[in-house]
Amino acid sequence: MRVLLVEDDRMIGDVVSQSLKDESYAVDWVRDGQTALDTLATQVYDVVLLDLGLPKKDGMEVLRGIRAKNNPVPVLVITARDTLDDRIRGLDSGADDYILKPFEMAELLARMRAVVRRKGGVAGPVLTNGVISLDPATREVDLNGEAVGLSGREFSLLMALMVRPGAILSRSDLEDRIYGWNEEVESNAVEFIIHALRKKLGAEVIKNVRGMGWMVAKCK
Ligand code: CA
Repeated sequence: MRVLLVEDDRMIGDVVSQSLKDESYAVDWVRDGQTALDTLATQVYDVVLLDLGLPKKDGMEVLRGIRAKNNPVPVLVITARDTLDDRIRGLDSGADDYILKPFEMAELLARMRAVVRRKGGVAGPVLTNGVISLDPATREVDLNGEAVGLSGREFSLLMALMVRPGAILSRSDLEDRIYGWNEEVESNAVEFIIHALRKKLGAEVIKNVRGMGWMVAKCK
């Protein structure tokens, strides 16, 4: 999952981006509102974590800019402004949820997963294709009810495919889901990870669609 973090406070930004990386999210961190909008114009994210008090353009302007372009990306607003007015304004401008500073990282992660889930139209928190089930909250993966241990990147890649079983993702789609900007993408990384996943989950689980990419088959 790829996250855009928009936060000008260095300390909060450091803590949040590191915690997200520890959970194997790909994170891009920008520090002002204009850069956030420029970035969102060219790159697709699974979720935006948006501070409201930002240089150049404030968070509300960023939010309106996102929705004015009909960009449906889930937005979780991080704010210290805990007045009711601001919250109502934010929700009217298209925020999906709020978290107030100071916050616990565990709560931020839980709210982030919830907004992604709601926007993705996934009914339950656990993703499944009928054979594999993947729980984004506990990071548990089962194959026919048996627990399977995955590395962070294996989990991220599998989760990208499990969001919509049957949908094909290209190499660059998958790279985007597992690497942030400042991480070097090793050549064949996607193939290596898929090879490892097939060893753990069975060769038929992840299908290659020649010239297009990969998918997880729908089994039920
Ligand atoms: Ca700020």
